Parts: sequence; structure tokens; C-alpha cells
Amino acid sequence: MRLEMYSPCDVCGNKCENDMSFHKWQEDRSSWLQYSLCNKHLPKSPRVFIWMHNLRVGRAVASFLGLGIGLGGCYKCGTPWDCIRSHSTRYNPGSACFPLCEPCWQELTPTDRLPFYLKLLSHWDATPERYCEVIQAVLEGK
Ligand SMILES: [Zn+2]
Ligand SMILES: [Zn+2]
Repeated sequence: MRLEMYSPCDVCGNKCENDMSFHKWQEDRSSWLQYSLCNKHLPKSPRVFIWMHNLRVGRAVASFLGLGIGLGGCYKCGTPWDCIRSHSTRYNPGSACFPLCEPCWQELTPTDRLPFYLKLLSHWDATPERYCEVIQAVLEGK
């Protein structure tokens, strides 16, 4: 589940039609600030192009373009989370996980998705109870 929370454009203050988020240093360089840009003020950058077209470019191409370095990404196509929307699977009321991007998730059946979730769980050192919750959610098509 994705939060439908659009903040106003950082340049003009209009409502943003897209769900991209950007980061910049705060004036005093103490922390990062997240902001949004409306379609008119989106930069013509590779990251924006890839995001808007849901392109699964993979990790090698993204790294070559300087995108998503140090970030995790889709377990299937490798595209970093800076470039593509993830599919969030809610496995209990307060928790969700997202090993796959939306296009990879869409084209797989629940049983085909399962190995990617199991791989994520193994990285978490998950409890048997957590395994059950996640497996059940995946097989229910969440
Ligand atoms: Zn704007
Ligand atoms: Zn993917």
C-alpha cells in the first residue's frame, strides 16, 4: 500500500500530479529535506524519465547513471528504489514489506512471487511467526 500524500511543488506551490520525491540538504546541512515537484517543474533527468515510464533499467544501468547508489532495489530486476515504485505487501496491520517493484509484482503469480519474499525474510533473520504472516499475505495476492 502506498501513501497517497502529495505535498505542494517546491517551486510554485501547486499541487503535484506525480508521486516522485526528491531530497536536498537543509540550509544548515544538518539533515535532508524531502520535497516534491509538479509536472511542470520536474527536471528532465534520467531518474524522472525512468520513473514516469516505469522502466526496469536494472542495477547496472542505474549505477552507471549515478542513481540509487547505496539503495536497495527490486529483488527480481535490480532497479533501485530511487527509480521505480515498489509494491508494498501488508502482512499485518502495522507492517509491510516490498521485495518487488510494481511491474515485476504484476507479471508474477503469487507462487512465483514467493521466492523473492523468502529471500527478503532470510536477510531479516525473521521469526517463524513472521514467515507465516508474510507467506500467507503473498499467497492471498497482497
Ligand atoms: Zn511547480
Ligand atoms: Zn522489478
